[in-house]
Amino acid sequence: MIRLVFLGPPGAGKGTQAAKLKEKYGIVHISTGDILRENVKNMTELGKKAKEYMDAGKLVSDDLIIEMIKRRINADDCKNGYILDGFPRTIAQAEALERMLGEDSKSLKVIYFDVSDDLILERLTGRRVCKDCGAVYHVAYNPPKNDRCDECGGELYQRSDDTEEVVKNRLSVYKEQTAPLVEYYSKKGLLYKIDASKQPDDVFNQIEAILTG
Ligand code: ADP
Ligand code: AMP
Repeated sequence: MIRLVFLGPPGAGKGTQAAKLKEKYGIVHISTGDILRENVKNMTELGKKAKEYMDAGKLVSDDLIIEMIKRRINADDCKNGYILDGFPRTIAQAEALERMLGEDSKSLKVIYFDVSDDLILERLTGRRVCKDCGAVYHVAYNPPKNDRCDECGGELYQRSDDTEEVVKNRLSVYKEQTAPLVEYYSKKGLLYKIDASKQPDDVFNQIEAILTG
């Protein structure tokens, strides 16, 4: 049973690595951002409540997110473990996760993606995502072979919150509300720090070393 938390600033490469782990080991990838975007697209009640916060680069309320995660991790496909990508993002969310898991929370491995602000801006403004399957590309670091998705041929788009202005808000929100989780999990002895500025394959090796270690 593997329960991983991917912690780190937006653009650190969490989704990219989760996709690699999913492909190699079949671990379920739970991205709160992806679930929210799906809800916005389908104009659900949750999507309507979340949209303005996401557009501004602010966090959606803890109550909504915690409820959403509770439902997701109790689904059948999560019985053998999962990667939480983008959750928890506040101390209140981390405490809620601990309550949900009880004793099992002690077996969490929290992987902290360490990367500089300069790289984040470059990675996020160059990010492109497939409309159909969600595959993630970068115009310079991981370009598609042609203009469309290598996996499924879908159209690629730029997320509306990946503009320089919104990225700056997201970074300051990260520093204020999410960065304190580094110390929170470190104190509990659950934190594993990796150098996320390296090439994707190198980052993947660092994560595998933690999983097998
Ligand atoms: P996150 O899920 O943490 O927000 P992503 O995985 O979406 O980050 O990565 C952000 C952008 O950076 C994407 O365009 C991705 O292709 C690119 N990227 C991810 N990992 C690396 C890496 N190790 N080196 C260079 N670019 C990367
Ligand atoms: P991401 O795809 O992880 O970059 O998230 C995109 C946006 O979704 C964030 O800027 C937030 O508005 C919202 N979001 C995602 N995860 C959370 C979370 N755990 N708590 C609050 N808001 C979230």
